[in-house]
Amino acid sequence: MLFLSQRFFIKDNQDELRLHAHKYDFEIDFFHEVSDFVAAVERDSADSLYLIDLDALYNMQSDMQAARKTLLLRELLQRLPANHRYVYLQTVRQGSRFLLQQRLVDNNCLAYAEKPIANDVLVDKLFNLFAQQKRGDLVRVVMLGAPPGWDEAALQAQRLDIVYHTDPQTLHLRVRDLQPDIVLVTDVEYERTEAVVRVLKRNIEADPVREITLLQRGPDAAQARRALDSGFDALLTMDDPDLLARQLLNRADKIRISRDLIGKDRATGLLNKIGLQQKTQSLICRAALEGKPLCLGVIDIDKFKTINDTWGHYFGDIVIKRLSLTLVPRMEEGDLLSRFGGEEFVVVFWDCTLEEGWRRLDGMRQAFGANAFEVKPGEVRHFSFSGGLAAYPAYRSENELFLRADAMLYEAKEGGRNQIRPLPERVAQTG
Ligand code: GH3
Ligand code: MG
Ligand code: MG
Repeated sequence: MLFLSQRFFIKDNQDELRLHAHKYDFEIDFFHEVSDFVAAVERDSADSLYLIDLDALYNMQSDMQAARKTLLLRELLQRLPANHRYVYLQTVRQGSRFLLQQRLVDNNCLAYAEKPIANDVLVDKLFNLFAQQKRGDLVRVVMLGAPPGWDEAALQAQRLDIVYHTDPQTLHLRVRDLQPDIVLVTDVEYERTEAVVRVLKRNIEADPVREITLLQRGPDAAQARRALDSGFDALLTMDDPDLLARQLLNRADKIRISRDLIGKDRATGLLNKIGLQQKTQSLICRAALEGKPLCLGVIDIDKFKTINDTWGHYFGDIVIKRLSLTLVPRMEEGDLLSRFGGEEFVVVFWDCTLEEGWRRLDGMRQAFGANAFEVKPGEVRHFSFSGGLAAYPAYRSENELFLRADAMLYEAKEGGRNQIRPLPERVAQTG
């Protein structure tokens, strides 16, 4: 995060912001001169957030008055590289002037915040913005009925995956297999099999969050009422496929946001337990379909209570963060990484046998052990984790995999820690 701030931005405040940002794995660079800020933005690889405190303006005015011309808002906005978007921080006093507000939102504005705002709130909101920018998870749609003539490629480019289904009587089976986020049913199909949504919804395992939408060719209030009564969540008209597609994309964005809020750990941005369970289940389905092996590993930092007790909880958090930074770059396409609990992580390696999984997890163990932690000036320590592994198809469900891997973790702890079980010589036998 690059932050153009007031020169007299109190030092404590900067430190506190940094501290909060640290929890979310953010780095903040502070700038006090527009020229330095602009140069840094131009140099940046474009995955940062750019934050501008407009009070910095007043700062610079008084600072530059004597020597140079007064820097006005207009000039500041002009000097900002136009190919980026910015977060503006303004005081409420400024915010009450609508023209200024409008000028901001029309000038490459990603978001604005009104001061006073607590540092932790600000960082949390910035984290959400960051996550939104990064978010591109696939949103799955199952549609009962004929394609409405939308631009399929464009939807796919926006990470929307649409599967067409033709038989109302087997829709619930398809939905169970694919676990889509949205189900679309055309009015033709609805009229053909009116019970279709009730069958979907009454299934005890149905995902209550899934959205079921009726697509109407034109307004038909009577039909709409019946559909809503029978369990549809929403209605869309499909006479204009482009409009329909845009609305679907907006829905997909909202779905991604709520999925993140539910399924991710705020401190590391990794999947939490809930997110991991969902994703592992669908990965197992995929492995079954494609005949691929999977490997699930449970990681637990050794003697973590002692780390907390000796150097404090805050230091313990840093160790957790460093572990996540060690693991993240070692993940490959299709893998899952989760912060499962406090100092416990779970990895799922896609298309990976137990043997390969052992090598990969042991590589991670060695990499983490190589991290030097300066616990006191001049005093360096190394820490370790233990790991347990289980592979699909030898263990078939998410639950079986987890129980087996956890039992193996227990063996690793009993066996002296800082190791991965099953032992390599037993990996070949246990499968
Ligand atoms: P072992 O080698 O057997 O795993 O020993 P351990 O001390 O690591 O034991 P255990 O895994 O049971 O202890 C985990 C401790 O981690 C308990 C809890 O106080 C602490 N902890 C859990 N979540 C967090 C967290 O988010 N931050 C910090 N700093 N500590 C946490
Ligand atoms: Mg533990
Ligand atoms: Mg532990």
